[in-house]
Amino acid sequence: MKRISVGLGSLARWTAAILVAAAVAGSLAAPDVTLAQQPRTDIQVMPVRGNVFMIVGGGSNITVSTGVDGMLLVDAGSAAMASKTLEKVLELGRMGTTPAPMTTCVGPSCYPAGSLGPFLPFGWAGPSYNAVIASPKPGKPIRWIIQTSADPDHTGGTPALAAAGTTYNGGEAGRLVGERTPATIIGHENVLKRMTMAKFPELAWPSETYYIPTYKMSQYINGEGIQMYNTPAAITDADTIVYFRFSDVISAGDLFTPGRYPGIDVEQGGTVQGLLDGLNKIIDLAFPEYRHQGGTMIVGGHGRIGDTADVAIYRNMVEIVRDRIRDMKKKGLAIQQVKAQKPTLDFDGIYGSPDTFIDAVYQTLR
Ligand SMILES: [Zn+2]
Repeated sequence: MKRISVGLGSLARWTAAILVAAAVAGSLAAPDVTLAQQPRTDIQVMPVRGNVFMIVGGGSNITVSTGVDGMLLVDAGSAAMASKTLEKVLELGRMGTTPAPMTTCVGPSCYPAGSLGPFLPFGWAGPSYNAVIASPKPGKPIRWIIQTSADPDHTGGTPALAAAGTTYNGGEAGRLVGERTPATIIGHENVLKRMTMAKFPELAWPSETYYIPTYKMSQYINGEGIQMYNTPAAITDADTIVYFRFSDVISAGDLFTPGRYPGIDVEQGGTVQGLLDGLNKIIDLAFPEYRHQGGTMIVGGHGRIGDTADVAIYRNMVEIVRDRIRDMKKKGLAIQQVKAQKPTLDFDGIYGSPDTFIDAVYQTLR
């Protein structure tokens, strides 16, 4: 498998260079940490590329494609944030639907006010017609929600968001009497299995499942192919990564969480080797723009957006920790002894508390 090596050595050198530069600069003002200290309770939208956006603050990160075909979401955030998330999603859906400008001109020879030209070919209009074209168009409907896992942080908002959306069926007879089918919810079949076993609300269950290694949306959506890959036994046994092939964005779900250790869920079928395979799959799909930077954008399940280098650095961390714990386990160390040796110490400053991660690696490495 092709791998992109991002040397930690070079990272350390850069860090050292920055520290030296800071020391040379001398009396730097104390950094303003007030922003970092305030917990964010609001929801933000970040344009990723083309018609793909990232919604942050709704529990998990949510990826949204919006355009001529409606909206496709990857994940729906938590139940607690559902109404705020929905508000933001609908706001995105109204984007680009600016009402047509009003004109009082009637007939073919309509010139812009105060000018003698140019000729506007579509100037036939009367006040009532103008009122129609000037009224705001309805927003794009939420039509598809892809679930990257069954985790309530990612799927809790599904019932509310799907109910606000729609699936267009053949015939549409029900529509005539005001019936509406919620948005189509797509996930790996193990998402359905996990959700039924855990008795999740039925409205959060996927209405369309797949069981093969890769699954495509059946046609272009908003100008591009959207492809799903199941990454077996990674964080759980139900993970999907979603690849927007033209926008070149990968929605990775919890396989990639920069800023926190991977939440491998052993009870739900997650393994450290499956996670590494999944991360390598993402790196295989992704193209850096230049020296591992830029290029394919990767939206993780939580935290900031990343690129190929970010995923490679994260993958390296998982692999290094896995190797260390494997060596210790081979020597016969019990889990408590492994933890006492602090196999993640040099990464804890970036990724936080390693306890459950060490447990999961120890239990599942082979
Ligand atoms: Zn998550």
